[in-house]
Amino acid sequence: MTFNMDFTMTVNQTLMVSDTQYCQEDKFKTRLCKSYAVGGDENCKYGVNCKFIHPEDEEQYMRLIEYTEEYRRVKGEVQKEVQHLHGLKRTIKDAITANAIDERINRRIRLFNEVYPKAPNYYDLHGMSTRGAVNYVMDICNMMRINNISTSWLETGRGNHSIDNIPLIRNVLLNNYNGFNNVYFVPLAHNDGIIEMTIV
Ligand SMILES: [Zn+2]
Repeated sequence: MTFNMDFTMTVNQTLMVSDTQYCQEDKFKTRLCKSYAVGGDENCKYGVNCKFIHPEDEEQYMRLIEYTEEYRRVKGEVQKEVQHLHGLKRTIKDAITANAIDERINRRIRLFNEVYPKAPNYYDLHGMSTRGAVNYVMDICNMMRINNISTSWLETGRGNHSIDNIPLIRNVLLNNYNGFNNVYFVPLAHNDGIIEMTIV
């Protein structure tokens, strides 16, 4: 899949451990194992005892891309633009213009997820309108069915510092859509700001 390839390439360009670096002392599970970098054999001899990150170290693997400078820069730009558009929307009285601004926000966030996925099958919904997020999740579902993908992750935030419908998205998915069309939404045990979406 293109998304996965983009992700792997970004990770490899910025975080791949070279042979010389590999021998140096490293903090436990902070960098990608070379067996899982481009050209790696995906069969690390250290297995579960490897001190580098493997795909099965889900959370660390997902967070790899967050450490890249480019990701942080672009994410900052997107957040600034989205905040600006939300501010603009609050000054708008007519529904048609407000909807057009929502559309622009939602498109921007979708594009960011497509070009800079934090991890394979991982989607950050922060900043989207509730309707836009629900539509996006439905589109993700369709894409998953077509590509035979059973699990994806949706970052909604916990809603503790709620702005712009973030908790609403979470509640709507958990309360209104759970079980609908055999799609299930379950918050991750160690981070309930992320919802695991499973098609059974
Ligand atoms: Zn390894």
